[in-house]
Amino acid sequence: MLKGSCLCGGVQYEYNGEITELAVCHCNQCKRAQGTAFVTNAPIDYHKFVILHGKGLLKAYESSPNKNRVFCSRCGSPLFSQRIDAPDTIRLRVGTITEGHIPEPDYQIYCDFKADWCVLSDDKPKYPLGKV
Ligand SMILES: [Zn+2]
Ligand SMILES: [Zn+2]
Repeated sequence: MLKGSCLCGGVQYEYNGEITELAVCHCNQCKRAQGTAFVTNAPIDYHKFVILHGKGLLKAYESSPNKNRVFCSRCGSPLFSQRIDAPDTIRLRVGTITEGHIPEPDYQIYCDFKADWCVLSDDKPKYPLGKV
């Protein structure tokens, strides 16, 4: 069981399942949709995904034919994407999850489009809070 929300808290959801696959996408659309180097998303079963509050705040943008990106119209948080011809699986933006386990990513895609400034190697210093 997972719970999550958008930035303003207007949209609240729960997922009655677990994340079994986690992808990082570096494509140019995802970069612009998130406003940062990549998106991290999980394919999940739409039938186990419940909007608890804020259904009326959800807006969809058809970023490419057949693919909607769904976001909160008040705060702009990207929540999930959904193919119009395959609506049963949605791709949840896992940064919106507030409760529940998120596994490490399984793979990265569109790496040819990876932002030059996005450093993915793991041998760099790690800071618990801000850089000191
Ligand atoms: Zn919101
Ligand atoms: Zn992408």
